[in-house]
Formats: sequence, structure tokens, C-alpha cells
Amino acid sequence: MNASELTSHFPLAQPAQTETTTQELPEAPTVLFVDQSGQLGGAEFSLLPLASACTQRGKVVLLSEGPFRGRLEALGVHVEVINEVHVSGINRDAMQLNWLRALPGIWRQVRAIAEQAKPFDVLFLNTQKALVLGALGKPLHRKRVIWHLHDIMSREHFGHAQLFIVKWLVRHAVDHVVANSRASANSLIALTGLSADAVPVVHNGIDASEFSRIDASDMAMLRRRLGLPEKAWLAGLFGRLAPWKGQHIALAALARMPDVHLVLVGAALFGEHAYAQSLHRQAEQLGIEDRVHFAGFRDDMPTWMKAMDVILHTSTEPEPFGRVIIEGMAAARPVVAAAAGGVTEILRHRKNGWLVKPGDVEGFVDAVETLRAAPEFAQRLADQAFADAQRDFSLDGYLEQMTLAIAHTAR
Ligand code: UDP
Repeated sequence: MNASELTSHFPLAQPAQTETTTQELPEAPTVLFVDQSGQLGGAEFSLLPLASACTQRGKVVLLSEGPFRGRLEALGVHVEVINEVHVSGINRDAMQLNWLRALPGIWRQVRAIAEQAKPFDVLFLNTQKALVLGALGKPLHRKRVIWHLHDIMSREHFGHAQLFIVKWLVRHAVDHVVANSRASANSLIALTGLSADAVPVVHNGIDASEFSRIDASDMAMLRRRLGLPEKAWLAGLFGRLAPWKGQHIALAALARMPDVHLVLVGAALFGEHAYAQSLHRQAEQLGIEDRVHFAGFRDDMPTWMKAMDVILHTSTEPEPFGRVIIEGMAAARPVVAAAAGGVTEILRHRKNGWLVKPGDVEGFVDAVETLRAAPEFAQRLADQAFADAQRDFSLDGYLEQMTLAIAHTAR
């Protein structure tokens, strides 16, 4: 799509109207974004630039406090947090047991979001709880509703009741859905019976220049700055600590590669502290604790990624998209990833990365050892990955498609 087609659909920048303006300009829709999380996960990182692009005609409502608020506000986005009611009723377990108890709180949230939505044209729901609370209020706010799907809607991730509610809401209260991958879209199509073209896919996009800007020519200095061993061969795993992200798989693989160090970047964002502790115990039991570097949550991903020799992705369940993979590609590092879900829409085995069966410890060992032994081949994969990230996962392309989707919803 060219710029004039885009502008005719959805004028991103509108000149101020003056009294002498004779031609009526089409109005860009105003948008209320809703996201349940105060934490920074993939869904939140994908909302940041979009909300920023809509600063003049949008606002973000969050359902809990956390660092996401500050990140949005730093971009000039108007943010409101509605967290006076603790809605514990819409997670998998509580859905089965506590939903009656949570009902009054849920209703108050539904009404609060509907009230916030009143001055806007479009209600953009960015997460599961946002979908439930925002779409349930449709009879109150009567706004056009778009849902940005960031999940694989299957029994592995969600309870029966939640899937049932999502199915009902998508049929009766959502005007438009955009999925973050074909894998996510297909799971919703299987759940709801929607046609394939009713669930368009927009892959996440990132600003590759943030990665290119990092000077990694003096690797020893870069690593020293990050407190990492200067000369070791470093494998990096980026993402929140959670059992299905599979950090334990990476530790098991590391135990079979005595010359490699592993850097785990990320924290337990959603209460997975027992898992985080179990990783420390596992490292001790395997006798590899001196080769595992727990870095915690980091804001400067480009710098950390550039400091690695290889980037691992070890999710044991299908990944809905996997921003960390396109980030690793933009960092021009070879990426070894678990071949399931959205990942297979990003990486091609031995062309721009290396795919391993999810949970296959030996497969990860084989991949890392092969790349270590063949640095030129590893560099070729990384170069191709970098080119693909710039072409297929650009921030501009993502913003263009998402703003069009919002415009489409408003019609
Ligand atoms: N991330 C970060 N700092 C960390 C760990 C992760 O900024 O310490 C970011 C990472 O760069 C990526 C996002 O968190 O943009 C995770 O998105 P992804 O799609 O990989 O996983 P999700 O959180 O959606 O499961």
C-alpha cells in the first residue's frame, strides 16, 4: 500500500482546520486502548508504539499499576489506571471457582471502562481481560470494538469457561479482530468458526535501527559494561521467567556444553517466583551455576542481544508470536528457536535461523554446537535474519497495518 492510499483510509496527521477550509477532511477515529497489565510483556511492547502514534486522538486505560504506565507516559500518551477493584475472577482457576464472588468487581470494571469509552470512536482491547471487560460493556458504551489477539486460544492456555466467553464475545460484541500471527488466528478460527479472512494477521514490528545503533565492535568492552564474561561463548535467552518459556530446557542443554555460558534476561512478571527459584536450584544441581548469568529484567534489550554469540528461544508451548525472535534477528545474531506457533512464520530452518522441536534438549545442544563450530555459517544465518527483520517486521509496516485496522473498525 502506498502513502496516498493509506492517507485516504486514515489520515495520520491532519492539518488544523481553519475557517477558510472549504473541503471537509475525513475524521481520524479517536481510540481508547485497554490493556490489563501494568507489566511489560509482548502485548504491551506492541501497544507502546501504536498508542504513541495515536497520542493526539487516543488514551490508554490500564487495569493495574506497573512500569508500563511510565513507559507510555514517557512517550506522551495519556494514561488512566482503573485498579480500585481487584478483578481476580477472570483467570483460569478463578473462572471455575470464584467467579460468583468476583462478579460485583467485574461489573464495576465493565462500567468504568464503558464510561471511559464514551468520548471515543473505537475501543481497542489489547489483552484477554480487556476483551472480556470491554466487550461485555458494549450495551453500555455502544462503541465499535477491535480486539488485538496475542494468544493461542487453546485448552493448553485457557480454561473451558474462558474459551466459551471469548467465543461468545467475539461473535456478539467484537466488530474486528487482528491476530499477531497465523497461529493465533487459526486457534481463534477453530474456536469460533469465523472465516479465515475475518481474522487478519499483522505481525509485530520493531525498529531495527535501535539494534544497529549499538556498537559491538569492541565486544570485550560491551560485555564488561554488562558485567558479563568477556571471552566466554555466550548464549542468551530473553523473556519472562515462566515454565512454558522453557528456561529449564536451556539449563539442561547448557549442562552438556561445558564451554558455553548462558545469560538469562527477564524476570518472573506474573508471579512465577517458584519457577525462578527452581531455575537457580537446577543450575546448582547441574553444577553449572558459574556459567549461568541471571540478569533480571532489562530495559536495554538491543545492548544485551548484541553481546551474545547466539540467541535461544526455548518455549515448550506454541509461542503466539515471539517478539524476542525478531529482536534477535534485528540484532544480527543467529537465533535458535522452538518450532511451534508463530515462530515458524518468522524463521526458516538453516536459512535465517535454526528450528528445534520444542523441549528437545539434544536438538538445542546440536544447534548451538553446530553454530559454534561453523562461525561463517552462523554469520550467514544472522545476516539473512537481519535482512528479513528489516523487510518483514518493520515498525512502520506494523503501524501502517494497525492504524488501517482501527480505521476499518470505525467504519
Ligand atoms: N523484554 C524486555 N526485557 C526483559 C525481557 C523481555 O524488554 O528483560 C521484552 C522483549 O524485548 C520482548 C518482550 O519483552 O519485546 C517479550 O515479548 P515476547 O513476544 O517475546 O513474549 P511474551 O511476553 O509476549 O510472552
